[in-house]
Amino acid sequence: MNAPPQHQGAAPDWDQLLRTCIHCGLCLNDCPTYRTTGDEAESPRGRLMILREILDPLPGMEDEVERGPIDRCMGCRACESVCPSGVSYGRLLEEGRSRLDEPEERNQRIVRLISRYVLPHRRRLMLMAWLGRLAQLSRIPSASFARLLETMPRRRPCWPRLSGPRHGKVAVLAGCVQPVFTPGVLPATLKLIRAVGEQPFVPEHQGCCGALASHVGDRERARAMGRAFIECFEPAESIVIPSAGCSAHVRSFGELFADDPEYAGRAAAVAERAQDLVVWLAERADRLQLRPDPRRVVFQRPCHLRHAQQVDGAAEGLLARVGGVEVLQSPRADLCCGSAGTWSMQYPEMASRRRDEKLADLLVHGPELILTANPGCELFLDGAGGEIEVQHLAEYLAGRIDEV
Ligand code: SF4
Ligand code: SF4
Repeated sequence: MNAPPQHQGAAPDWDQLLRTCIHCGLCLNDCPTYRTTGDEAESPRGRLMILREILDPLPGMEDEVERGPIDRCMGCRACESVCPSGVSYGRLLEEGRSRLDEPEERNQRIVRLISRYVLPHRRRLMLMAWLGRLAQLSRIPSASFARLLETMPRRRPCWPRLSGPRHGKVAVLAGCVQPVFTPGVLPATLKLIRAVGEQPFVPEHQGCCGALASHVGDRERARAMGRAFIECFEPAESIVIPSAGCSAHVRSFGELFADDPEYAGRAAAVAERAQDLVVWLAERADRLQLRPDPRRVVFQRPCHLRHAQQVDGAAEGLLARVGGVEVLQSPRADLCCGSAGTWSMQYPEMASRRRDEKLADLLVHGPELILTANPGCELFLDGAGGEIEVQHLAEYLAGRIDEV
């Protein structure tokens, strides 16, 4: 259903990977930042030139890198889906970012601190979310702070609970953000797994998988979190992840630990057993009995499902099993919504513009519900405060099956 996870081996030959770009430019129009700016440096091709300067610098030129376009890349990997030459852009980007120093710009530093010390810790995240909500409701101290608040979830934060059986065969990753802002996703995932006749469980001491740390180039932190994840989830027969960003990251553990002799094999084995919920469920769709729904819905494709994992049509296939539902198509369906990990916090103005364009595309045929499969996309689209509800696909499907 989706591309196999990356396997362990020796550290890659970065020069060789960079050489796969033939400079054809076919990726340019699918890159959101190039479409917005028209600037070659903000395109995949331009960024690959900068990544060469970072990964394979000429002697004496190590400090001359123009890092701005690398910081501003959304990491959506839409460029990979259209590249005829198979450039591993996401892998090159993460390696390049991991070799850059801490950013100097204030907003970048703040977001990095948040991604390091707040987002992976559910209770700290809940506290920050409440402070953000209070600020949203009160007088806003500055225009830039107001723009940052616009990108924050508008949902009421909850005390995070990881309820569910502690033993079973199919381990579920609850995530960091979902238990705080969308607490219905975990019980919905458990219900769906039971509905197809499998035994789900929620490993008790699970933490963050490290996806956001990896996204901002914090390689060592991502590895530390990855090791803890492996220890926790290794005993499971299979691992189901109801978050496209997290599932894409866990499935790339083989790359993350490629040069770690102790963890390389274990990481690749865990990656092999991990799947996004959408993919896992689509493979068992014939066992699902779903009640009909007469509404018009549209599915927003998370980049980390569509581009990072090359999953195309699995969610739409599941929705096709709901009698009466009309699944609408939207133009430019493969373009990012603007959430992009922490990108929306780093560049709130650009992110809000991208979200407006995305919502205009999603709403063009008049859906009554927007569905997605990634907490970042769900909360960011919902944060626009529109009239149309945004919901995780797991909650929608679980709401269409009888109690099991
Ligand atoms: S990852 Fe996305 S934003 Fe970055 S270069 Fe590729 S298409 Fe553009
Ligand atoms: S990344 Fe791929 S599509 Fe883009 S310029 Fe290079 S070879 Fe062409």
